[in-house]
Amino acid sequence: MQNIAAIKKRFVETHKYPSLRINAVLFDMDGVLFDSMPFHAKAWVDALNAIGLNFTERDVYLNEGSRGSETVQTAYTRQFGHTCPEEEEVQIYKEKSRIFESLGEPPVMPGAKEMVSALMHRGVKRTVVTGSGEKSTIKKLQTTFPNAFAPKDIVTAYDTKKGKPNPECYLKGLEKLNMPAHYSMVVENAPLGVMAAKNAGIFTVAVNTGILTDDDLRQAGADIVFKDLIELKNAFDELID
Ligand code: CA
Repeated sequence: MQNIAAIKKRFVETHKYPSLRINAVLFDMDGVLFDSMPFHAKAWVDALNAIGLNFTERDVYLNEGSRGSETVQTAYTRQFGHTCPEEEEVQIYKEKSRIFESLGEPPVMPGAKEMVSALMHRGVKRTVVTGSGEKSTIKKLQTTFPNAFAPKDIVTAYDTKKGKPNPECYLKGLEKLNMPAHYSMVVENAPLGVMAAKNAGIFTVAVNTGILTDDDLRQAGADIVFKDLIELKNAFDELID
């Protein structure tokens, strides 16, 4: 087991914070609260391959957290050496969303409900910070996790201009919760998401729920990597103040 106290101490020293007392948790949504990444991967690969763009499942996971428009541009520019016209970009993202919706409702991530209610019992503040604009999944947060996340505190693609790894979304999340970085923790599953949280100066734990390696997440800057939400919840006594 990782020495969490030592990791937290090192984080405080690196950031020159007075302390780290975790009173708030900011959750990423896809791949953390919902096991939706396989659905996103299929939708992206099918939508992009259909118009002749090479894009693999690993590419989807490496770009996870980007805005939809940015993912289209990444795939397009890599292949054609120039950006995608806006009209076509909108069409491609629309098709990706259509396929995603057609796959049905993504399941809740194993351990997510138990983890969220453990935080509610501890009186820890909570919110969700996602680059997603998929309205059906965002809506599902309220029915899956009743009373866990105040709608006014949730940050989605509609609240921000820049996708992860830009820290904008996590800074907005802190602002909505009215919490400073050194009273907060982020739970992420994707390298760009980890980078966004770290760029916002927040202690960041990753859960490796996808197809990437733990090193992909560590290299992005994750302070701790857990294999799943159950392992993360079991570490709350050491993590949460
Ligand atoms: Ca994610």
